[in-house]
Amino acid sequence: MYSDIIRFIRELYGTNGFIPLHEPRFIGNEKKYLNECIDSSYVSSVGKFVDLFEQKIAGYTGARNAVVCVNGTAALHMALMLCGVKQGDEVLTQPLTFIATANAISYTGAQLVFLDVDLDTMGLSPVSVRQFLEEYGDLRNDGFCYNKKTGRRISACIPMHTFGHPVKIEELVKVCNKYNIPVVEDAAESLGSTYKGKHTGTFGKMGILSFNGNKIITTGGGGMILTNDEELGRRAKHLTTQAKIPHPWEYAHDYIGYNYRMPNINAALGLAQLEDIEVFLNSKREVANKYRNFFNSISVEFVSEPEHAFSNYWLNCIILSDKTERDKFLELSNKNKVTTRPAWRLMNELKMFKNFQAFNLINSTALSDRLANIPSSVRI
Ligand SMILES: *Cc1c(COP(=O)(O)O)cnc(C)c1O
Repeated sequence: MYSDIIRFIRELYGTNGFIPLHEPRFIGNEKKYLNECIDSSYVSSVGKFVDLFEQKIAGYTGARNAVVCVNGTAALHMALMLCGVKQGDEVLTQPLTFIATANAISYTGAQLVFLDVDLDTMGLSPVSVRQFLEEYGDLRNDGFCYNKKTGRRISACIPMHTFGHPVKIEELVKVCNKYNIPVVEDAAESLGSTYKGKHTGTFGKMGILSFNGNKIITTGGGGMILTNDEELGRRAKHLTTQAKIPHPWEYAHDYIGYNYRMPNINAALGLAQLEDIEVFLNSKREVANKYRNFFNSISVEFVSEPEHAFSNYWLNCIILSDKTERDKFLELSNKNKVTTRPAWRLMNELKMFKNFQAFNLINSTALSDRLANIPSSVRI
């Protein structure tokens, strides 16, 4: 059966050669904008492409403010700081995520609290968050929520839209609002995905995107902070650009800022990529449909977009019967130069994070054991 899957993937991508998991496509104005950038000499921290890219991402996602960052991890770190996450706080998140989520929380000095995901979305479950908060959440008179068991302040909740599939974001925001906990959406993988017609990354107090080379569009490396709060947007811009006080020639700064800017040359690439996002989304949905039909015909579970969601199908996923079977499939496909891989090792199992609180993680564990990502590049 696994050789049938490998054969199908080879036919889909029309090659007997190496098939990567996800590779970028440059089919539009990339070279034109990069040349413009070089010809203008504005390749670095200022230039028109930075402003344009921010405006276009804001327009596309419907976020009021979009602030570019050097990468998605830095964007997440900045978003957490702007939400007031401090040393010694706790941040709720899912263990089934890319390391960047856990790292960004750690940069603030906060502790992680791992709660389970839903099987259908593969992202943070509003039910596990509600159960946790009903048992441990203590909304005090100072307006903050504390963990009854540890006494620590719970200062943010980060759901991640796993492999591009939107989480139950409305319910998550509702539960967190009740306890006055800001939601920061890790939408690094889900640009173009919507929940009830609204873009992921625009439901929480803040959201972040990534434009790393393996994401649906790329700037080489880069990220974006999204927020509907003007003041937070203004502060994000200020703090990611060394907190310089605006002045025609004087150099003075009013905070310890960060050099989290995205260079103009990266923004130029991103702008060209964004112009083609509909082409990419259409192709990725076509790939997903073909996979779905095929896997249905051989009775292998394929992960489709959840209810109320439109998914960008960034990385397609199948669920095999158990870890042994999944590993057999990974072994055979990779040996045959068809790149497949498991979901990440759960964050609470890594030595840096193993001492943090972790609750019932039955779904996260099942997905970590049984899931395989299969090649998902745009077919052009
Ligand atoms: C890609 C990614 C990020 C950000 O990664 P960068 O490489 O720093 O842009 C953050 N979270 C998740 C879940 C990701 O997949």
